[in-house]
Amino acid sequence: MIDVSQRLEELDWIPRPRLLALRRLGIEKVEDLLTHFPRRHEDRTEFPHFPREESEIPVCLCGEVIKTSLRRFGGWKKIFEATLQESQANALSEPLVCRWFNLHYVQKMIVTGQRIVVFGKPRLRGKRICMDHPEFEIIENDNEMSIHFRRITPIYPGTEGLSQRTLRSLLYRVLNDVVDQSLETLLPRALMNGNMTRAAAIRAIHFPEHWQERDAARDHLVLSEFFAMQMLIASRRADVSIRTGQAHCGSGALFTRFVKSLPFELTGAQHKVIAEIRRDLAAAHPMNRLLQGDVGSGKTVVAIAAMLLVVEAGYQVAFMAPTQILAEQHYDVLRRWLDPLCVRIFLRTAARQEQSGPLPLFADEDSHIIVGTHALLYESVSFSNLGLVVIDEQHKFGVTQRARLTTREPAPDVLVMTATPIPRTLTMTIYGDLDVSTIDEMPRNRGKIVTAVRDEAKLPEVLRFLRTQLEAGRQLYVIYPLIDESEKLDVKAAAAEYELWRERLHPFRCELLHGRIAPAEKQQIMERFRRGEANALISTTVLEVGVDVPNASVMLIENAERFGLAQLHQLRGRIGRGEHKSYCILLTSAQANEASAKLAVLERTGNGFEVAEADWELRGPGDLLGTAQSGLPALKIGNLKADVELMRRARAAAVSIFQADPRLESPENQRFRRLIVEQRGHTFSNVS
Ligand code: ADP
Ligand code: MG
Repeated sequence: MIDVSQRLEELDWIPRPRLLALRRLGIEKVEDLLTHFPRRHEDRTEFPHFPREESEIPVCLCGEVIKTSLRRFGGWKKIFEATLQESQANALSEPLVCRWFNLHYVQKMIVTGQRIVVFGKPRLRGKRICMDHPEFEIIENDNEMSIHFRRITPIYPGTEGLSQRTLRSLLYRVLNDVVDQSLETLLPRALMNGNMTRAAAIRAIHFPEHWQERDAARDHLVLSEFFAMQMLIASRRADVSIRTGQAHCGSGALFTRFVKSLPFELTGAQHKVIAEIRRDLAAAHPMNRLLQGDVGSGKTVVAIAAMLLVVEAGYQVAFMAPTQILAEQHYDVLRRWLDPLCVRIFLRTAARQEQSGPLPLFADEDSHIIVGTHALLYESVSFSNLGLVVIDEQHKFGVTQRARLTTREPAPDVLVMTATPIPRTLTMTIYGDLDVSTIDEMPRNRGKIVTAVRDEAKLPEVLRFLRTQLEAGRQLYVIYPLIDESEKLDVKAAAAEYELWRERLHPFRCELLHGRIAPAEKQQIMERFRRGEANALISTTVLEVGVDVPNASVMLIENAERFGLAQLHQLRGRIGRGEHKSYCILLTSAQANEASAKLAVLERTGNGFEVAEADWELRGPGDLLGTAQSGLPALKIGNLKADVELMRRARAAAVSIFQADPRLESPENQRFRRLIVEQRGHTFSNVS
C-alpha cells in the first residue's frame, strides 16, 4: 500500500535508471507520477479496418509486420519501411506502409512477424497507403494485453528515456497499490459533478473504462487545477483588500491645470479610466489596478493625472519603468509638463541621478515624484510618505517584484500599466488579482499606419521607398533580428549591420543602438535621434517599449518571422505617433505558411486586442502564463483556450468562498487554506 506523498525511490521495485529518467521529467513523488497526465488516449478496444483513402484525422491501427526494407536516398539519408497487414484481412484489405526517415533506432526495433499498433495520418503515396513517422508500439506478449491493449489506452507526453509502455506499466502498478484516502478531493461541492472523487478521477484519466468516464475525469481534474489557481489569485486579492490603506486624493485643482495645459483634448476613454482611478484613490482601501491600453493610446497622460491627484493630497509617487531609456524618457516628459506646475521630480537610475524643481534638493523626501527603473525596488529610496506606485509596462515585472514595493504599511495605491493587450478570456486569470481599466479608444489625431509584408528579394524596391520618405524629412527605424538582448550580442555583427545600412542609406545619417551600449551613451543616441540629427536608427529590440519620436514614421523590421506577433505590434507602436502617415515594412524570407499567416494578421489590423486574439488563435497561450511573470503555476492538464468555461466556473467558486469567509477561518475551508499555503510555498498573511 502506498501513499501519494511518498517518494518514488521508496518503491523498491522501480529500477534506478527509471527513477533517474522520471526525475528528468520532474517526477519524484508518487503524486507527481499520478499527475503526469496522458496527452491523449487511443481506442484500442477494437481496431478499425485499414483505410483505403487518405484522411486528415489520425487513426490507430493494429497489424502484423509482413515486410521491412531500408532504402537510401541523397547519399547518406535512409528511409525505413515496414509493411503491415491487418489481422483479420479480407479480400478488400490493403496493406499499410509505415515509413521513417533517418531514424536509426526504429529500424532496430521493428522486425517481420511482430504485431504492432501505429497511430498517424494515412496518406496516399502513388498507389500505396502510407503513414509517415507514425507513433508505434510493439505488442510483445498477450499477458500485457490488459494494460496496453484491448482498452482505451493512455499516451503520455515527453517520455525521453522512458517508453510509453514502461510509463504505463509503472502507472498501472502504482494505481493498483495507492490508497485512495491519500488523494484528497480538492473541489468544493459546487464544482463537483456527481460524486466522483479525486481518486476516482485520477484512476479514470489514466485507464478509463469508456470515453464518458474519461471526459468526466478530465473535467474534474481541470476544474481542480483551475480552482487551485483561482484560489491563489483570490488570496492575493484578499491580501490587498484587508490591508490598511489611506485615501490619497486631492481636490483636483492641480490636475485641472495640467489638463488645461495639454496641447490636446483627452479622449473619452482617458476620461473614463481617470474617473475609475480617482474613485480608487479617494477610497480608504488600497488601489490595485491595471491600466490596459494599446500602444499609443495615451496611458502616460492618465498616469500623470493620477500622480497629480496624489501629489496634491500631500503624498509621494514612485514611477517605475522597465528600462533605463524609458525611465529617462518618462522623466523628460514629466519635466516638460510638470515643471510649470512646480512639481518636484527626481530621477533615480543606476546611471543617473537628477532632480528638478524650484529649489535645490538634498534628499528624496523633498521630491513629489521619483522616477526610476526597478533599482527603485531594491535601493532604499527613503520615501517618507509613499501614496502611489505606478509601474509601467507591467509585463516586464513579476508579481513578486511588484509585491516588494507595495507591501509597506499603510499600503500605497498601485497602478500598473501594460501595452500588451491580452485576450479577454485570459484577463481573469493573468490579471485576476487586479481591477482592470481599459483605454479602448485611440487619440483622433493619429496618422494611419500602413503595414506591409515584403519578401527579402524586394529589398531594392523597399530601399527606394525608404529614401523617398527620408527625403520628405521623415525618420526611420530599422530593427534587426536579435531577438533577445540577453543573447550574447556579437558586437562585430552589429557593427557590420550598421555599416551595411550606412551604405544603403547614404548620404542620410544613421545611428546604431543595441543592448551593449552603455546607458549614458544610449541616452545620447536617442536624444540625437529625437532632435533629428540622425535620420535612421538601426536598432535591436531595445527600442521595443514606449519610445516616442513623432517624426519617426517609417519602420523596417528584418526577419520579421522571428518575432512574436505581440512583439511586432509593440515595435510598430513606435511609429504612427505624429500627424504623418506611417509605414511598417515586415521583411521576411520565410516561405512557411504559418509565418505568412501570422504576419498577415498585422497587415489586416492595427488593433492590439485583435492582434492578441489572433495570436492566441494561431499559437495558443504558451508563454502568456510564464510563471515568472504571472506568478502562477504551470498547467498540467487544463487548456486556457479550450477550457474557458471551466475556468469561469472555477473563478466564480473561488470568489464566492472568499466573499463568505475572507480569512478562510471556517473549519470546512481549512483544506483550501492548506491548498493556498502549499502553492505559495509559505503562509499568506491574512490566512495564517
Ligand atoms: P502609451 O499608451 O503607448 O504609453 P503615450 O502615453 O506615450 O502612449 O502617448 C503617446 C503619444 O500620444 C504621446 O505623445 C502623448 O502625448 C500623446 N497623447 C496622449 N493622449 C492624447 C490625446 N488625447 N490626444 C492626442 N495625443 C495624445
Ligand atoms: Mg507608454
